Amino acid sequence: MVGLLDISSQRFMTKPTQLYEGKAKIVYTTDDSDLLLTYFKDDATAFNAQKRGTITGKGQINCAISRHLFQMLEAQGIPTHYVDCPSDREMRVKAVTIVPIEVIVRNLAAGSLCKQTGLALGTQIDPPLVEYCYKNDSLGDPLLTRDRLLLLNLATPEELDYIRQMSLDIDRHLSAFFQECGIILVDFKLEFGRDRQNNIILADEISPDTCRLWKQGETDPQARILDKDRFRQDLGDVESAYKQVLERVLGQAK
Ligand code: UDP
Repeated sequence: MVGLLDISSQRFMTKPTQLYEGKAKIVYTTDDSDLLLTYFKDDATAFNAQKRGTITGKGQINCAISRHLFQMLEAQGIPTHYVDCPSDREMRVKAVTIVPIEVIVRNLAAGSLCKQTGLALGTQIDPPLVEYCYKNDSLGDPLLTRDRLLLLNLATPEELDYIRQMSLDIDRHLSAFFQECGIILVDFKLEFGRDRQNNIILADEISPDTCRLWKQGETDPQARILDKDRFRQDLGDVESAYKQVLERVLGQAK
């Protein structure tokens, strides 16, 4: 169980209540109604949860990578839900209402973009592509047009413009950071939330679960993969790939 004893203050806290269990994280309430606690699990899913498994140590690794990337983005002026990490699998975050849109940003063609358009894997996309999927498991997270998104009232036109611009800014900062780590940021998924003041801030996580990351200079199309595609495609060495990303991120964050 998490956080029953607040080690820093040596006082017992109210028993946290589980609010929600997702595929990779569990969300708990905290003593402070403005804050939530997310617990990063080792569970991995792919293909809309049709494939399930465990990546040993993933929880700690994704928590640490997300922490460093959120801190880096905050330093660049991007508002995020990150507060702190009370343990190596726990992240305290600002309470938000998640906007039910998965924002995908693409710098190189991969995954569903290749499948749906016939573009060759690795084709450069310049300027980067911003796409929206409906965060709805029962519908299979379908790709949405801007008009469908507005039809469903998932966000206002102003919020959408803001989310799109923030996603492109995040892409610039993340791509530059990963480049310094010797990693190519192929594509990634972001989620945003509305805080208590109705401000849109970056939420969820940024990790090898949610990004495609290729080792720079590696031409072998399988050996270069450092992300969840190793799990999706049964390529093996999933844990060591995630660890490599963490080591490179930590090295760069110093
Ligand atoms: N992605 C994610 N969660 C999802 C769908 C996609 O984190 O539910 C990430 C995925 O890891 C990749 C990017 O978003 O980095 C683009 O994924 P794509 O649309 O190509 O879908 P996929 O091929 O993963 O089904």
